[in-house]
Amino acid sequence: MKKRIILRFKKDTIDKPIVYRLVKDFNLVFNILRANISPKAESMMVIEVEGTETNFKKGMKYLTGLDIDTEPMEQDINRDETKCVHCGVCTSVCAPEALYIKDRKIMKVEFDYNRCVACELCVRVCPVKAMNVSFE
Ligand code: SF4
Ligand code: SF4
Repeated sequence: MKKRIILRFKKDTIDKPIVYRLVKDFNLVFNILRANISPKAESMMVIEVEGTETNFKKGMKYLTGLDIDTEPMEQDINRDETKCVHCGVCTSVCAPEALYIKDRKIMKVEFDYNRCVACELCVRVCPVKAMNVSFE
């Protein structure tokens, strides 16, 4: 089986060697798809994990035991560049700052896909429906 999982780390769990343990102890193969690591606040990582169902369950149990939140990610977020009017509304709800304004002089809203955790908040607030959710 293969699954994409969102991991959320508290400040004191970010330094744990979880990647090493998932491979070595649970024989899981994985890809880090996105990561937003901050030593001072909650960090997140999106990983794609592949392995047997039994090992997958054991690996998730191991992470939960470390107080790392795990949730499946079954959707993807995209922005329709032809619709976005750079109003900035979405930046106020995007906690991982995947939507942000780099240069306040030109007020252009950037979308960093690699930071997105697919929470869908931007989809709900975008007045012109530029943010879209697609499911696997
Ligand atoms: S809320 Fe929608 S239109 Fe406004 S900046 Fe964000 S994506 Fe673009
Ligand atoms: S779904 Fe939207 S609000 Fe949520 S993290 Fe991604 S870009 Fe930000």
